[in-house]
Amino acid sequence: MEKIMPNRLDRGFYQYQEEFEKKAIEVLRSGWYIMGKELEAFEREFATYIGSKYCVGLASGLDALWIAFRALKISKGDEVIVQGNTYIASVMGITLNGATPVFVEPDEYFNIDADKIEEKITSKTKAILVVHLYGQASNMSKIRALCDKYDLKLVEDCAQSHGASFDGKTTGTFGDIGCFSFYPSKNLGAFGDGGAIVTDNEEIAEFIRIFRNYGSEKRYHNKIVGANSRLDEIQAGLLRVRLGHLNEMTDEKNKLSLRYLEELSNDKIVLPKIRKGATHIWHQFVIRCPYRDELMKYLDEQGIGTIIHYPIPPHLSEAYSYLGMNKGDLPITEEYADTVLSIPLYNGMKKEEQDYVISRINAF
Ligand SMILES: *Cc1c(COP(=O)(O)O)cnc(C)c1O
Repeated sequence: MEKIMPNRLDRGFYQYQEEFEKKAIEVLRSGWYIMGKELEAFEREFATYIGSKYCVGLASGLDALWIAFRALKISKGDEVIVQGNTYIASVMGITLNGATPVFVEPDEYFNIDADKIEEKITSKTKAILVVHLYGQASNMSKIRALCDKYDLKLVEDCAQSHGASFDGKTTGTFGDIGCFSFYPSKNLGAFGDGGAIVTDNEEIAEFIRIFRNYGSEKRYHNKIVGANSRLDEIQAGLLRVRLGHLNEMTDEKNKLSLRYLEELSNDKIVLPKIRKGATHIWHQFVIRCPYRDELMKYLDEQGIGTIIHYPIPPHLSEAYSYLGMNKGDLPITEEYADTVLSIPLYNGMKKEEQDYVISRINAF
């Protein structure tokens, strides 16, 4: 058998090859490549899918995050609460605006521990950034209540949670702004970079629509200093094709993940848990193992590739050495960084591939 990779983007392409190729050619032949009808249609369709009033397409998930905090006027001197165990882009969204991240430890579901947020709120706290990590919705009833109690803005990093919900409400709709990435490996992935924000607030949507295009509403009439952060027509068109199949793609990943949960059995590993009231779209299937590095090496020798999401938590990365944090400051976050492992999971995964991964992990 050929080596089993942690992810196979080619399989996701071939599942709907004809539709993707037809759309790509249609856009190429249209002669219109930026800010056109594909983007408009995608924004409408994605807003409907999420259940938000507005969607604004952007160039990446990181742009969605930093522009979201910009729109909320969060800047130097302000604090934003975020979980310690996230992809570093979440934190960059905060610090690119000059604001300070305040880290909170995760719960057993890998999301922010809602019971540890209140003790971190100060007079400088302006917002909470919730990351629905690995595809599972966070404890949104508690977090929403805290934001109401302390009058905080709520931003959701939904880069890994397209369509996941808590108590029947879709992630991205709980707060002021939901931020999405369409990086190719995400559950709703483009064929290049892409991102978007969703919001119910017309003023915020309008600000971001202007900001992403050099701050101009009308060509050459610049109201504010903005950015160039636009979602290309070709990516928007291809995302529309994929969005049309997203529910069946999520179902497929859900079935594969449920099979892992049922059939993986090894007392050296801890399986992921599903929170009551939350749905999980399985961006990643993340196990924990105290012998993680040995397990990773063993699986690699057996022809199975795995990835660590993420080996260095943001507070210990070189980029954030200026925050002055040290090893031991966030023990749970750091333990996760030392023990998590994402095993192969992708659309188009074959039964014999999964059989083999299960048998090798169980034999470790
Ligand atoms: C991928 C990701 C981002 C960044 O998205 P890009 O489109 O790669 O900029 C932000 N936050 C999380 C949690 C992510 O997984």
